[in-house]
Amino acid sequence: MRPYAEALMRLIYPAQCGICKLALGLHDRELCPACRKKLVQLRRDPVQAIMSQRFAAVANAWSIYPYEGPVRDLLTAVKFSGKQWLISAFRSELRELSQALAADNSYDAVIPVPMDRRHYVEREFNQAELLAAIVSQASGIPLERRILSKRFSLTRQSSLGREARRHNLRDAFRARSKRVRGQRLLLVDDILTTGATSQEAATTLRLAGARQVDLLVLARTEASDSPRAASL
Ligand SMILES: [Zn+2]
Repeated sequence: MRPYAEALMRLIYPAQCGICKLALGLHDRELCPACRKKLVQLRRDPVQAIMSQRFAAVANAWSIYPYEGPVRDLLTAVKFSGKQWLISAFRSELRELSQALAADNSYDAVIPVPMDRRHYVEREFNQAELLAAIVSQASGIPLERRILSKRFSLTRQSSLGREARRHNLRDAFRARSKRVRGQRLLLVDDILTTGATSQEAATTLRLAGARQVDLLVLARTEASDSPRAASL
């Protein structure tokens, strides 16, 4: 939008910070300077973002933020208040990591961890897909939304414990073998909790013939930072 038109829009519809609701200055996007600063302080740069713990079927994994404070507030607003545009608050950090990864690896496709159809219809968007679109745009790696799909599940993962999550996920994903065979893939998700979902998605892709599956998550919970998570 042109600066003049945008200034006019801001006069009519004052934009608010996506976290603290303070009115935004004309040059602020999504967040006020104080909330932006808190967010920037939490991020790990591309070198620090590599995760030391191993996940089944995943060759390398990266995460940018711990899932806390402003990261949690923003993702909650994106997912449960329908404020999809707030995903842009993560854009520059996500771009930077995506470009670093694309420079060091030759991926054939970026794949968002899918939602099942019913949850997708309820929410109208998949936040992993919004993030994967930014990764694809920044890196030039093609975005593939239809290679991996998730079957309908009666139980939400977030309501289950670790063991129950793994059981609930068995055979949850389907991959199109023809499109996956021999490919190097970068799987993208918003939050890593136990890692069960990502591992199951990666396993499905590997069983379908993918040569390599790497994982990029925006944020991980403290539980996934603990040594115990490394063995699962
Ligand atoms: Zn703020």
